[in-house]
Amino acid sequence: MDETLKQKFKVLLAYQKKDIELRKINLTLERDAALAEMNKHKRAFNEAKQAISDCEQTAGGLLEQFASLQKYIDDNEALLAELEAAETVGEEDLESRVRRLESLKSKFQTADKKMHDIDEKSKSVCKRRGDALKYGNAAKQKFGEARDKHNALVGSKADEIARLKAELDQMRQQLDQKLFEEYTSLVNDNKFPPVVPAAPSDKKDMFNCGGCGLSLPQNSNAKLSAQGQGWCRCENCRRMIVHLS
Ligand SMILES: [Zn+2]
Repeated sequence: MDETLKQKFKVLLAYQKKDIELRKINLTLERDAALAEMNKHKRAFNEAKQAISDCEQTAGGLLEQFASLQKYIDDNEALLAELEAAETVGEEDLESRVRRLESLKSKFQTADKKMHDIDEKSKSVCKRRGDALKYGNAAKQKFGEARDKHNALVGSKADEIARLKAELDQMRQQLDQKLFEEYTSLVNDNKFPPVVPAAPSDKKDMFNCGGCGLSLPQNSNAKLSAQGQGWCRCENCRRMIVHLS
């Protein structure tokens, strides 16, 4: 490889080394167990919030049912009072009144059952709401604890991250722009690290890609040879493969 190009790749590799360091720290932060805890408790809190809102909606429906049942009972009570107050005229009239009283009795029984049903449902919805409130508050508390823990980790790495970023910014100015464009494009395609060494293969003077491990074709091996340009692109993963020695 020509000395100038070799120098360019060396600077790029030094940059990549620092970039790897920064990525490792960022990965540690992303994989922090406390962060996963935060997400878990946030989900639980949102579920509790939803459950409370569902309970409130159900309670509203029960109140409406209660009000219409109460009206039904009031109406029937008025009818009963009317029947009791009316004067009997003949036997036929009496029979009809007995029938109406029987029918009212059955209506009161049905209403009583329904009232009991509403009462049971109300108790259950109150309990559900109370439980949701309890676990919602617990989730909020645990979320806070996990957030503090995660923030402490983020804080402990802040100086190192800032230092690495500043160093990378500085180094970027010394990089060959064209090579760095290639580097960035590979990074954006999730091919990290973008520059890899030529890995020796079982066959003499033949190499594998140091990134994806695939064996290289003849023309790529020729590029990597002492007579070649000293670097090539992997035809599989597109990484830049260098052979500096
Ligand atoms: Zn490859």
